[in-house]
Amino acid sequence: MPGPRNAPKRKSPFSFLLILALIGAILTVFTSSDEPPVVHSGSSEKISLSELIRRYKKQDLEKIEIKDNKITAYALDGQVFLSHKESSANIGDLGLSDPQNPTQVEIIDTSGGKFWTNILIGVAPFLLLILFLIFLSRRAGSMGGENGPFGFGKSQAKTYDRSKNRTKFAEVAGAEEAKEDVMEVVDFLKNPKKYQRMGAKIPTGILLVGPPGTGKTLLARAIAGEANVPFFSVSGSEFVEMFVGVGASRVRDLFKTAKRNAPSIIFIDEIDAIGKKRGQGQGGGHDEREQTLNQILTEMDGFESETSVIVLAATNRPDVLDKALLRPGRFDRRVQIDLPDMEARLKILEVHAKNKTFAPKTEFKKVASKTVGFSGADLENVLNESAIAAVKHRQKNITEKDLSDAVEKVSMGPERRSRRITQSEREIIAYHEVGHAISGHLCENCEPVHKVSIIARGGALGVTWFLPTEDTYLRSEAKMRDDMVSLHGGRVAERLIFGQTTTGASNDLERITNIARNMVMTYGMGDVEKVGPVVFAPKARLGGWDEYLQKEYSEETARKIDQNVQKLVLEAEARCVEILKKELPLLKKISLDLLEKENISEEEFLAYFKKA
Ligand code: ADP
Ligand code: MG
Ligand code: ZN
Repeated sequence: MPGPRNAPKRKSPFSFLLILALIGAILTVFTSSDEPPVVHSGSSEKISLSELIRRYKKQDLEKIEIKDNKITAYALDGQVFLSHKESSANIGDLGLSDPQNPTQVEIIDTSGGKFWTNILIGVAPFLLLILFLIFLSRRAGSMGGENGPFGFGKSQAKTYDRSKNRTKFAEVAGAEEAKEDVMEVVDFLKNPKKYQRMGAKIPTGILLVGPPGTGKTLLARAIAGEANVPFFSVSGSEFVEMFVGVGASRVRDLFKTAKRNAPSIIFIDEIDAIGKKRGQGQGGGHDEREQTLNQILTEMDGFESETSVIVLAATNRPDVLDKALLRPGRFDRRVQIDLPDMEARLKILEVHAKNKTFAPKTEFKKVASKTVGFSGADLENVLNESAIAAVKHRQKNITEKDLSDAVEKVSMGPERRSRRITQSEREIIAYHEVGHAISGHLCENCEPVHKVSIIARGGALGVTWFLPTEDTYLRSEAKMRDDMVSLHGGRVAERLIFGQTTTGASNDLERITNIARNMVMTYGMGDVEKVGPVVFAPKARLGGWDEYLQKEYSEETARKIDQNVQKLVLEAEARCVEILKKELPLLKKISLDLLEKENISEEEFLAYFKKA
């Protein structure tokens, strides 16, 4: 079986340094030969130039040697005189060229040696520059890129060395269904003949779809690792280039290489960067992205049925992809990877815990149950943060506390204790958060309060953390209404206690509005009689940011929608006011405790309600 033939040539930077050193050596050899050793045979005497000329005129001298600015005179009596002329002084002007004078005057031409030095000095910089450019382009080449000056148009695909890429399905924890879906592809790549004999056509394009961090890239690598075939990977964002036509030629090259190495896998990560719907408002018709996309389509259509090249692509935005990409013969197979559920989270944690030292009897189940909505990448991050904390505190191993701190850090951002908050602000924050917590706690459909904190975290000044206890896939209207009530809690508490509200509630209001709008415009909830269970939301509300925000309803309906939204928001607020007015003593009590303790845990919070 042919190996990945386009494995990039690696030229170490050391070879470049070696060349430099050689050039340096040559230069020094030449320059040092420029200074011939002055041979002092017997005694030599330094004399002035005029003295030398006087002796010449007296015809005392047998021979004069002029070399650059040095003049050596050999007297008839064997004495040697050394003299010196100004470098500006012309030899002809010295008066040593009397034809009547029998003294031999020899001008030793040193420019021969100089000649080479001069050449080198003149040429070396260019030589260095050329070598440097070659070095640069080599280096760029070895990184699989063509950002070097000579490398346009070649594929930017990275090849995973088969011996190094040992990613196996076992490393992709949890995503059982997705793995099953791709198993047959692996089998096909392993024995294509089996399928061809039966006349079965294996899909050329498989689209991995799922939220960020759910392991799409990981799964793609595992497919290649399991099938043990060359894997050419390229990321959609790399195609976004300055030069028109480069992307398309890259695609051509990528497919050519993959076909040459068939059976093989092409992986286009983040394909939404190039595969967005064409001709949507931006930048005219024929931009670079579009040409790249067209080239991908052309290449995929050009596959013969016996070509065993499989094109994998990954995206978390399948809704923005151009329809042409999804047509039969292209990416017609879709593998969905969802956020992991409880069981999958546990498995992912176990996979990533393998190389870490945990305290004995560490329960990953607790972490798994506390991390509803976390992706695989988030979970990996949690374990890593916990390990960092353990090192920071010089522990022998990672404790459960490190783990739960890490969960908080990953989901709410790191604590910012250094932030200066005045006492009056802290009070407002405390009442605000406790307002959220109480109103949420007393609504039937809200998640349990896990923690209330007035330590600034990430961008927030305080946090009330509601923690889902189980994975849910549907949200009821009642739950959405209750969520709005607890979101009102902060602002309503501020108003009840201080008689006014602050800007701290702006994010709450934004979320409330979003919930209410979605209820009316997308889910057919609220006062359905008024506007009807119709989806009014333009696509943009559902996803694609680059689509037109065009209304598909009349002004009259728009007014009804607004009224409906307002009503939902106000109803929720009224319920919240009612709850908090009734629980005013508790609101004050818990807030004062929170001001003192800064954090209130789930148990502490629940204890207040048991007493009451
Ligand atoms: P995506 O491409 O879907 O955004 P990645 O494949 O880049 O996500 O995942 C990022 C990292 O998260 C992976 O390298 C892996 O360490 C971890 N990860 C994600 N999902 C899983 C999983 N199901 N099992 C094990 N690790 C996972
Ligand atoms: Mg990815
Ligand atoms: Zn709030």
